[in-house]
Amino acid sequence: MELIDSYGRKINYLRLSVTDRCNMRCSYCMPAEGINKLHRKDILNYDELFSIAREAVTLGIEKIRVTGGEPLVRRGICTFLARLADIPGLKQLVLTTNGLRLEEMAEDLRSAGVQRLNISLDSLRPELFARITRGGDLPRVMAGIAAAERCGFPVKINMVVMRGINEAEIIDFASLAIHKPFTVRFIEYMPVFKEKNWKSLAVPGSEILARIAEHYTYIPVGRGELSGPAREYRLEGGVGTIGVITPISGHFCERCNRIRVTSTGIARGCLLSNTEADLKPYVRTFDRHGLQEALREIVTNKPGMHQISAHKADHSPFSMACVGG
Ligand code: SAM
Repeated sequence: MELIDSYGRKINYLRLSVTDRCNMRCSYCMPAEGINKLHRKDILNYDELFSIAREAVTLGIEKIRVTGGEPLVRRGICTFLARLADIPGLKQLVLTTNGLRLEEMAEDLRSAGVQRLNISLDSLRPELFARITRGGDLPRVMAGIAAAERCGFPVKINMVVMRGINEAEIIDFASLAIHKPFTVRFIEYMPVFKEKNWKSLAVPGSEILARIAEHYTYIPVGRGELSGPAREYRLEGGVGTIGVITPISGHFCERCNRIRVTSTGIARGCLLSNTEADLKPYVRTFDRHGLQEALREIVTNKPGMHQISAHKADHSPFSMACVGG
């Protein structure tokens, strides 16, 4: 079976958030005052999340990314991941993490059947890292990355580039892909909760690449069908790759293949759209048919493209930790 939206896009990628809780407080992800935590009773249990994943795969989803909040803070996550990995028809199970708990969990994640890890890392300088994450411990994250490598995970590092904050580290991050087989991805900052200075924080992907070009020659590399939206390059003399994700300056909506489901069972066709479907009533009444219909509807109503640009952000503010970044 295939899920095709009204613009002819094949939708085969589900980002499934398992929690809104996080052990970091990244300044670009949540406001300083924090977020209102979701009520426990609203958060789906693992059986409920599993039933959404299973129906989504039945309909045509081939790749699931487990995200959050921080997925590794939810108790029992590895058992849940192993259940997901066993869903017939699922081709890729991947996870996004801030890496804080990776050192102790990498081995279990590998055994559970997780194929790849995306690790969010926005600075290689301990003090700045702590400032951006409001208290994060860089050595612990680096130990987590080393553990992931030891367990044989292909490592992807995601850096959100912010002007005047961590832009001076673009080359340091690119250099990680010289000696290690890492994929380093530079992500344009998105004004999800529209902080006052949001316009001044954005660094366009073209500028990121231009800065890298001052130090390295880079060559475009081809991508697979289930790959994400990054444009990817190999640096001359390097063993890894770099990529740039440009949701703002060069949105990739025409190639978007994803839907999202939050830990409370809210499905969204687009991160930046307010059109949602509540899957919880179907899940809690074991209504498989209703659940499939609701997922199909989210795909059908998926917007053609989002409306954020470098100058305009008309969406209702939200935290990535709630929607599942
Ligand atoms: N806790 C996990 C982590 O840190 O990767 C998963 C959740 S986090 C919300 C998922 C991704 O969203 C991270 O890579 C983070 O950098 C990205 N993200 C959050 N807020 C963002 C923003 N304003 N602009 C761009 N990316 C953002």
